[in-house]
Amino acid sequence: MFWWREQVSDGLWIAFTDNAAGNLALHVGDSPAAVQSRRSSMETELGVAPGSLRFMNQVHSANVGVASTAQPAPPPETEIDALVSPQADVPLAVMVADCLPVVFAGSTAGGGQASAVAHAGRRGLLDGVLVNTVSALRAVGASDIRAWVGPSICGRCYEVPEKMRTASCEQLPRLYSETSWGTPALDLPAGAEAQLETLGVETRRLGGCTLEDSRLFSYRRNPQTGRFAGLVWREQ
Ligand SMILES: [Zn+2]
Ligand SMILES: [Zn+2]
Repeated sequence: MFWWREQVSDGLWIAFTDNAAGNLALHVGDSPAAVQSRRSSMETELGVAPGSLRFMNQVHSANVGVASTAQPAPPPETEIDALVSPQADVPLAVMVADCLPVVFAGSTAGGGQASAVAHAGRRGLLDGVLVNTVSALRAVGASDIRAWVGPSICGRCYEVPEKMRTASCEQLPRLYSETSWGTPALDLPAGAEAQLETLGVETRRLGGCTLEDSRLFSYRRNPQTGRFAGLVWREQ
């Protein structure tokens, strides 16, 4: 069910699902009823209220949304790639299969917590989705922000055209990489870590390569694949 799971601060949990949890995305041609049933099972597993786990309509943008229990869920057509819960009271999910899932936790005044998730592929990373997520967390009063960089395609597997590597590394040099077979590549986890360090965010890279680890979905391994998820929720 989980590739990794840990309580990261008082009552706040972060996890990354594996493919035993099944496909959690509605946009990949899977049966919507089957996806909803897996999402419900996941909510039961996390111990959160039915229907409370918030998913995003991800489009490789740098847009950040805010989720609060006081506000209704945004309409499903709202396109965002990061979501902040100012009081960490809304369970959040980010779906991936090779892109980078990043999950955030922070402290707020009076001993409170804030949380966030972000979907960072090459485009989102370069357009600042992580930078915007950290800004949004700070805007709601979060400090001591920490980030968990989950499993994605690794720098030794993520082959890209030479021109794309050159252009990407002009913006973010730490993306530079080479595949294990000697062709141009990008290292998304290294690029994310570099950006987060610059922002003063304590970052933990969990490692794991979606292309190499068959417990994880990988679009590059199979374009018909499902999506696994990065999750953050508060114990209820
Ligand atoms: Zn993606
Ligand atoms: Zn790899």
